[in-house]
Amino acid sequence: MNPNITQQICVAGEWRLGGGDKYATLYPATGEPVAYLNAASVADVNEAIERADHAFRTSGWAQRKPHERAAVLNKVAQLIRERGEELAQMQRLDNGKPITETRNLVASAAATFQFFAAACETLEETITPARGDNLTMSVYEPMGVVAAITPWNSPIASEAQKMAPALAAGNAVVVKPAEVTPLAALELARICIEAGVPAGLISVLPGKGSVIGDAITLHPLVKRVSFTGGTSTGKHIAHIAADKMMPVSLELGGKSPTIVFEDADLDHAVAGVLYGIFSSSGESCIAGSRLFVAHRIYDSFMERLAAGAAALRVGDPADEKTQLGPLITARHRDSIESYVALGVAEGGRIRVGGMRPQGAAFDKGNYYLPTIIEGVKNDWRICQEEIFGPVLVAMPFSDEDDLIRQANDSVYALAAGIWTQDYKKAWRYARAVQAGNVWINTYKQFSISTPFGGWRDSGLGREKGRLGILQYMEQKSVYWGMNHMPLPWAQGAK
Ligand code: NAD
Repeated sequence: MNPNITQQICVAGEWRLGGGDKYATLYPATGEPVAYLNAASVADVNEAIERADHAFRTSGWAQRKPHERAAVLNKVAQLIRERGEELAQMQRLDNGKPITETRNLVASAAATFQFFAAACETLEETITPARGDNLTMSVYEPMGVVAAITPWNSPIASEAQKMAPALAAGNAVVVKPAEVTPLAALELARICIEAGVPAGLISVLPGKGSVIGDAITLHPLVKRVSFTGGTSTGKHIAHIAADKMMPVSLELGGKSPTIVFEDADLDHAVAGVLYGIFSSSGESCIAGSRLFVAHRIYDSFMERLAAGAAALRVGDPADEKTQLGPLITARHRDSIESYVALGVAEGGRIRVGGMRPQGAAFDKGNYYLPTIIEGVKNDWRICQEEIFGPVLVAMPFSDEDDLIRQANDSVYALAAGIWTQDYKKAWRYARAVQAGNVWINTYKQFSISTPFGGWRDSGLGREKGRLGILQYMEQKSVYWGMNHMPLPWAQGAK
């Protein structure tokens, strides 16, 4: 990536400088510019959507046989893999995640295109039971122009998760990446076009969400928005969608409970809790950020957990040994610091972390140490609000019925973790906890073939899974008259 070259944006397959303000994206580890680009303007948005709609109607993509579209998507997967290291390094610069994580995200993006190629090729339309002299069928149609709005925390994977099913379904897709992490989406667009997706179907429009995101969501030719991001933005989009009567899927925030029972395999539980909250520096919607530990093992468990947190390697994202890189922006770190201060002001005690790492290597980056806060109550703000950083709140529990009440006492319901060796207890709690995703004796594991999404303020709708493609299609019922006689109404016309 040459920071001296201003990046172009993609307006319905045309590469050009955006019409909006010029800005730099910064490497979170050093604060140095990674790329300069001109944001999209509202005029770019309108042009991209109108041209995408034209391409949707004229390019023949939606009319290609499913196996033909699938072949192109498989080619996208292949190109992502061939450029895997380049994409992983680019993403590391873009959002400061450790290189080991960005390699996984790139692999996941390739797997997502491959999976939705298969979903496209094997999607079945159904004949439904007849209740008259008709052949009744249920079929699916692409929607037209769909929008994918993504956050900064896992760019290439989030974008692939929306672009792949949208294209597999036959649509045009307009991507609005987070302002601070536009590079992976731009590269993914180049790859899609190179693989054979008609260029007019692809747009990537970086810029401010309140301007570019709104212009996209409000546009009458945009038939669906798939959004991943914060809950307040999600609710704003849902209001616009209600006015347009437009389907949306919303993957939003979380404050996910993790429960460690007395009979848990503690080696697994310590490692899983650490990974659940501190991987991705806690900048993860599914971070296991609210910990409940059985009171009989609380002290010994917390001792091990605190020692484990203190030993995590925070540092240079380019170093393969690094476990936590810097946070996305200095502003975001400020917000995390004010949450830690709030937790202390509410009466919490910092068990470990609670500060920036010291030393010259950390001076220029947005680093923050893995932090555990104890002595808190579940109804405090520190336990109820999403911090989106490396901060874990921990509480002992003794009453197992009250535990489930506390675990579910949150506006969020995205994920939950359960650590126990008693399979009946695991099942009981997995069913009782309110969350879109439950991990038992593991955490933050993903499968593209398993649907993902949240309840309540954590979102609406599901992504992934074989049926994830249907989110980007309209369902249509077809009745074929099979009666050799006219309907009785025609009798008088003889
Ligand atoms: P955000 O809501 O500020 O931004 C997300 C995206 O929406 C960005 O591209 C942004 O520019 C855009 N946007 C902002 N205002 C908009 C508007 N008015 N109209 C349309 N688009 C607009 O979120 P963020 O700070 O980028 O990301 C962090 C949040 O994302 C966290 O709350 C996190 O939990 C959530 N998240 C959820 C999931 C999930 O799958 N549930 C995954 C990752 C992140």
